[in-house]
Amino acid sequence: MTSLTDDQLDRYARHIVLREVGGAGQKALLAAHVLVVGAGGIGCPAVQYLAAAGVGRLSIIDHDQISLSNLQRQPLYGTGDIGAPKAETAAAAVARLNPDVAVAAITEAITADNIAPLLADTQPDIVLDGTDNFMTRLIVSDACVAARIPLVSAAIGMFQGQVGSFYGHLPDAPCYRCFVGDAHDADDCDTCADQGVLGALCGLVGSFGAMEAIRAITGFGEDAKGKLHVYDGLKPDMYTMRLPKDPACKTCGSLAAA
Ligand SMILES: [Zn+2]
Repeated sequence: MTSLTDDQLDRYARHIVLREVGGAGQKALLAAHVLVVGAGGIGCPAVQYLAAAGVGRLSIIDHDQISLSNLQRQPLYGTGDIGAPKAETAAAAVARLNPDVAVAAITEAITADNIAPLLADTQPDIVLDGTDNFMTRLIVSDACVAARIPLVSAAIGMFQGQVGSFYGHLPDAPCYRCFVGDAHDADDCDTCADQGVLGALCGLVGSFGAMEAIRAITGFGEDAKGKLHVYDGLKPDMYTMRLPKDPACKTCGSLAAA
């Protein structure tokens, strides 16, 4: 792996002085490719922190355009961006934030048919899913298990946020489907369009998602496989649980350790 330039030693100095990250962790970040699904309330802060952290390659998928009602919680975008594609606008923001990051914008809508070829083409090390409905999250999770790619899933609703690290391709770790089951396969209506959400909650949960992607890349701290963190913004309070692999899961159950 090539050594860090003087500018990089300066830019990432506050990472490098962390014993748990160090120069090796920073090089791992610069060599990593994270695919962010959804450049909305969760994707915006996640992309912002992943780009600033020097993740060397970012792919951003979103088929939507920026609307006025997005701006309350999607601070990569400004009033002048209304009507522009989210993925491309987010990619332009990344280019402005950090020249170390090679960024690609993908403006396709995720479907069960295109996600597998998309992962095969782009070959990310980690997928960070910040989409706003169960159907897409399950499609993304199933494809990650098949492609053996770790998934950080981050979701919000009103005052609650959830972040989980899913490694369903491993014999002892759950996938997202082990957690939510099959009932949501046709359920695309838990969006914040009708629910409402506090903008700052998106910042918190999206940054948390970026944190867990960075943990997966650099290996700092404790093992997060199968951990789900639930934040209650009303109290406020947070708790963490370790989810089991479901041997009956139709996506990853067959991979369970005997
Ligand atoms: Zn599973």
